[in-house]
Amino acid sequence: MFGLQAEACFDAAHFLAGHSGACRNLHGHRWRIVAELRGGELAAGGSGRDMLVDFAGLKQQLRALAAEFDHKLIYEAGTLRPATLAALREEDFALAELPFRPTAERLAQYFYHRLQADGLMVARVTVYETPENCAAYWEAE
Ligand SMILES: [Zn+2]
Repeated sequence: MFGLQAEACFDAAHFLAGHSGACRNLHGHRWRIVAELRGGELAAGGSGRDMLVDFAGLKQQLRALAAEFDHKLIYEAGTLRPATLAALREEDFALAELPFRPTAERLAQYFYHRLQADGLMVARVTVYETPENCAAYWEAE
């Protein structure tokens, strides 16, 4: 098997509705997405010959994913009152609504499935919300 790893970062705010601690408050992170790919076959020809995946393309896919969330407020659908959402939109703040609680675990799972849907042989996605704390998602083989 061959494996490779690439990463991309973005800055975004979030909060965890219903959390009993400080995470219930609006706060920001420099999120770091680390994607690990795995496969048994290298490309037989072309510019990617003897590569599992061309880093250039992988980095581009990761950057595009990170850009979707960069400098936005990530929030779970249904956790902000309509009046709050309207006020944020009136201020022209960038918002990213997700159908799940935006924990590092769920974001890792979400990014895993997005990269898989892009056709990548993704083995694991790790999401750091601080330099010390991360969560990972992978699927049992
Ligand atoms: Zn947080």
